[in-house]
Amino acid sequence: MAIPDDARRSLSSGPVMLVDLAAIQRNFRKLAKMTRGTCAAIVKGDGYGHGMCEASSALRHIGAELFFCARFEDALTLRAGLGAGPRIAVLDGVSPPDMGEARARDIIPVINSLEQLHVISAVAKQTARRIPAFVHLDTAMNRLGLAPEDDEYAKPSLAACDVQAYMTHFASADDVDLDLCRLQVSRLTQRAKPLSRAPLSIANSCGVFLGSELHGDIIRPGKSTFGINPLPDADNPMEQPATILAPVVHIRSLKKGDPVGYSCTWHAPEPRQIAILAIGYANGFMRDNSNRGSVTFGGLRAPVVGRVSMDLTAVDISALPETAVHVGTAAEIVGNTITYREVAETIATNEHEALIALGRGCKRFFVNGAANG
Ligand SMILES: *Cc1c(COP(=O)(O)O)cnc(C)c1O
Repeated sequence: MAIPDDARRSLSSGPVMLVDLAAIQRNFRKLAKMTRGTCAAIVKGDGYGHGMCEASSALRHIGAELFFCARFEDALTLRAGLGAGPRIAVLDGVSPPDMGEARARDIIPVINSLEQLHVISAVAKQTARRIPAFVHLDTAMNRLGLAPEDDEYAKPSLAACDVQAYMTHFASADDVDLDLCRLQVSRLTQRAKPLSRAPLSIANSCGVFLGSELHGDIIRPGKSTFGINPLPDADNPMEQPATILAPVVHIRSLKKGDPVGYSCTWHAPEPRQIAILAIGYANGFMRDNSNRGSVTFGGLRAPVVGRVSMDLTAVDISALPETAVHVGTAAEIVGNTITYREVAETIATNEHEALIALGRGCKRFFVNGAANG
């Protein structure tokens, strides 16, 4: 694997995340081919931990023209990074004090409530111009979006909006609950029809893979663009863009019975060789990996022993060839031999949460096609 020089220098003292932007582009192209409509890029959660701005620029480069982020602040960052042109929408919507700036920066609110709708229609009246907006109709999540009983009150104000799409979000596509997905599609279709003519935006990643009748006109895959497996029980059709590495900073020989780490939760059952890695929960390598996770050296497994500390983790390298691991050798935390799914399952969470934590905690470097070759 080719590691860029600046990343290699950083890796001499701490963990790094290498993000292959070309893999993100290939994932997005694959998703875009699955629809005859528009494929939006969902880049919330700092691009699911992969770097919102860099990933979005890479996607813009291959033609992505619609981006969704969660917060207004992220939308401003994205607009500054992408420049004028692509549509940028905020899933949370835009609060009244931010409306002026949203208009100035051409940021599109997602309308999630009657209150948000009324603010926008008031601004539209003041400026005598219709305001572009996505309108979120809640069909099962009970999170964001207009409730069915809101529709009749919404209709008059919707005339002030240039509705980019009526959207809804699947509650259980990830669990392949096809009946609920279909019910949500039919609820959205029925509710949108009397409101106004506009495209429908429905499927998230899992929905995209469940069939085109669930897509609508604008698909909104997020996690799959970033290589998280959209299929609950099958091999990952996407490429994992991130490789996470941590350096060995120390090697120790243990005698039978020697403990390791805080609270002595592991004792060497016989003489053992352990390596201390410069990664810990401060880097997003969660404490739940204690005595449970593993890392690899050249594809060979080394289990975590003892508690994961804030900045350090011990792994048992006794089963590896003596020459395989030295001070300075990089352990793979995530990559070709350790999937996103495995890392998430070890700590009983989803891949999103695991990757976002690691993406925040490890120094990120961007490569183009080099890291996963
Ligand atoms: C997160 C999100 C998506 C993308 O979902 P994935 O499961 O990551 O593909 C799409 N739409 C909305 C409203 C979201 O919040």
